[in-house]
Amino acid sequence: MRIKKADQVKVLTGKDKGRIGKVLRVLPEKERVVVEKVNLVKKHRKAKNQTQKSERVMLPASIHISNVQLVCPKCNKPTRVGSKQVDKKNVRLCKKCQAEI
Ligand SMILES: [Zn+2]
Repeated sequence: MRIKKADQVKVLTGKDKGRIGKVLRVLPEKERVVVEKVNLVKKHRKAKNQTQKSERVMLPASIHISNVQLVCPKCNKPTRVGSKQVDKKNVRLCKKCQAEI
């Protein structure tokens, strides 16, 4: 996966287009990510006991990884991700400033 948890990403399509948020969760088998405050959907949270109230909360739903672009922490621009091998490990590269991410 070219996107990892805690990355900053920019949303490319949909109602949250242009929004930048932090990746909260990566679902590699579905190629989807959950991004903070993006693609919010209303969910009912049911009361588990009598002292709690059931409430409606807004929670981010996953979006497809092709709909987001990584924001480089070095140059702060949305960028494509390259990669290279360093000491037999894959490192990610910003295509704009060539920084390792
Ligand atoms: Zn960069």
